[in-house]
Formats: sequence, C-alpha cells, structure tokens
Amino acid sequence: MRTTLTALLLSTSLILFSTATLAVTLIHAGQAFTGASETLQDEITIVVDGNRIGRIESGFVKPQKGDSVIDLKDATVLPGLMDMHVHLSSQNGGPQTYLERFTLNEADYALNAAYYAKKTLMAGFTTVRNLGDSYNETVALRNAISRGTAIGPRIYTAAKSIATTGGHADPSNGMAMNIRPDVGPEQGVINGVAQAREAVRQRYKDGADVIKVTATGGVLSVAKSGQNPQFMDDELKAIVDTANDYGMTVAVHAHGEEGMKRAIIAGVTSVEHGTYMTDELMEVMKEHGTFYIPTIMAGEFVAEKAKIDGYFPDLVRPKAAAIGPLIQSTFGKAYKAGVKIAFGTDSGVSAHGDNAQEFGLMVEAGMPPAEAIKSATVTSAKLLNISADIGTLETGKLADVIAVKGNPLQDIHVMENVVFVMKDGIVFKQ
Ligand SMILES: [Zn+2]
Repeated sequence: MRTTLTALLLSTSLILFSTATLAVTLIHAGQAFTGASETLQDEITIVVDGNRIGRIESGFVKPQKGDSVIDLKDATVLPGLMDMHVHLSSQNGGPQTYLERFTLNEADYALNAAYYAKKTLMAGFTTVRNLGDSYNETVALRNAISRGTAIGPRIYTAAKSIATTGGHADPSNGMAMNIRPDVGPEQGVINGVAQAREAVRQRYKDGADVIKVTATGGVLSVAKSGQNPQFMDDELKAIVDTANDYGMTVAVHAHGEEGMKRAIIAGVTSVEHGTYMTDELMEVMKEHGTFYIPTIMAGEFVAEKAKIDGYFPDLVRPKAAAIGPLIQSTFGKAYKAGVKIAFGTDSGVSAHGDNAQEFGLMVEAGMPPAEAIKSATVTSAKLLNISADIGTLETGKLADVIAVKGNPLQDIHVMENVVFVMKDGIVFKQ
C-alpha cells in the first residue's frame, strides 16, 4: 500500500515537474488555414511540443521560460503540403535526358534524388509519394530522411514502377538489341498473373510503400502509343490482390480510357493523369472510391516543349502535343463530377520545387482555392491513410507547418512562395 502510494506521489510530481519545465515552441500565426475549416483564422498560436502539435490557442500566447517563439504574425500558416506524384531521381532537361539511362549510375540517381528532395521540402512539400524510380534509390533516400541524414520530405515510394513488355516504364524501351538488358519482374516488367504477383512481392522485399502500375501507354516513353491499354484484367487484378495482401495501395498511370477502366474495376487506389477519362468513367471512379491525381503541370510542360524542334524524340513529340493540353480540362470535369481529387504534379517532368504551380492550374480550371489546398493536405493524407497524423493543423498531429505571405484564398499564387517550413517539429526554412 505504502509503496503504491509513494509511487503514485512520485509519478504525479514527475508529471507536474515535466509540464512545468518542458519547453515548447510557439508559432504566432497572423492567419491560419488549418484544413479543418474552409476559412482563414486570425491570430492563433500553434504550440509545438516535440514533433507534434500540443495545442492550438487563439491569440498570441506568451512564452514561458525556455519556450521559443516563431514570429509569423505577418504570414498565413498552413499544414505541410503533400504531392502525391513526384519522381525525385531525375528532372527533364531536354533531349539529353534520354541518354541518362546509358550514362548515369545508381549513385547518380541517388544523389539527384537527395538534391531534388531538399528543393521539394523548401517549396513547402513535407510529404511526397514517389511514383517510380530506377534502382530503388528513393527507398534508400526515404530511410536516410527519416534517420535525419538527408534533408527532404517524408517519402512514400513505389520504388520501380511495374510495366509490361514494351510498355510505359519498361526500362529497355528504345534500346538497340545488342545493348538491351534482360528485364523481368525484378526490374518491374511483367507478363501474366504469376509475374504480376512476383513483381509486387519483389517491391515489398525492396522496401516499397506503394505499387505503381503503368496501365496505359505514356507520353515520354520511346513507344508509339500514349494511351493503349497495356495490362490484361487478370494481371491488374493479380497486382491489386497481391498488393492488398502486403498492405500496399496501387497507383495507376493511365491516359487512355480502356486501360483506365480495367484498372479502376480491378480496384486500384488512384488514377494518375487520367487524360481521356470519360463522364462514365468518372461515375465508375466515384462508385469505387478511386482517387484522381491530375498532374496538370506535366501536361502543360510537355505540350509546351512539343512545340520545340528536337526537344523530344520523333515518337514522343506527337504524343506530348496531343495528350498534354487535355489534362486540365479533364481535371475540371472530374472536379465538377465529384471525383475525389488528391494533389500531384509529376515533378521530374517539370522542375522540382515548382510543385505549387499546380494550385494555380487547378483554380484556373474551376476548383476553389480552399479545395485546391485541401487536395494537397486533407485529401492526400486520406489517400495515404495517414489522416490521424497529418493533413490538418490540429492538436495531436505531427508538426508539419508551412507559411506563405498573403492570403492564398484570394490569390492562390502566393502558395508558390513558401517562407517557412517545419517538418516533424523541426524548422527547415525560416
Ligand atoms: Zn509520373
């Protein structure tokens, strides 16, 4: 009895002692878009305790001894942004980009990824989904960032995408026969159900968080069609079922209608690009709860570059000119139809760090600014199944906090100039 009482007294005094002396960080925010409501709140204090939001109070809370204060009284704070479609390992730099797979080593891709990851974080993106790399380098980068030995956003990676022979993301496309490598499920090239399962299991073994499938042709691959279906129903079903067994979601690159439809019906989690999505398909997506990640920026980028002679290989140029300009209007229709939309840019096609330009394109196509910001916070967190930890500024969530100058609900372009970045309670930009 006595020991219990002593223990109880001791622990109570310890708690009192710790609350009295533990220093916190107070973020004084002139305005805030928390994601929990649609409007801006004036003058609040976000109390950051360790790596989490301890509480949020109205007004500017005075610091106690040892507390630090971050003065953002002249800024608007928001939850850390999330980009659900990036490729950190590379960045399109014109015709020479196509030579890189012959000239770059794994280490080059890894160092590129580390460099672009930092740029992405500094642009206010504290979480990204990397949908396709070359040598699992973004798995290593994810681990280094969570250990604190590299600087970048929290990464959810698909590692190497899964394609079929000759399909978008077959890494041997366009190569001469005498140098063409043998590619199979390990390199993400499958044919048939057994290999589909094997490729998913290989990614699990490699440390991937999600599965990326290229269900139709793509713009930048050296192949004729940018929209033909490239997987059979049973292959897609095998991928989704196997991924589910391993607790992984499936993201699907799709431009053409038929391949997109097969993937949605197979039960994938998100459709990327979705260029030729019909009204009927939008309804099917709503029925299945499929997320749409538009990547309007990538469409704009390739459409623009297709005008330049020699920028793209001859096979790629007409695809870029045809598909690129359509994505923004598909997005506008999908939004009006009520499809769930998460934010994604396909950065790596366009420049890393420019990610926030997507907001302007979304608003231009008819999405209200508050909704566009929520697509990059609340909805992206839902897609990743991490809403308990991130996506809004609320008590108990991880302290991913950014700030911009001005009112993003009046001028969405202020999102392109992020002045403050905190991730996991650590300040990376101020
Ligand atoms: Zn992509």
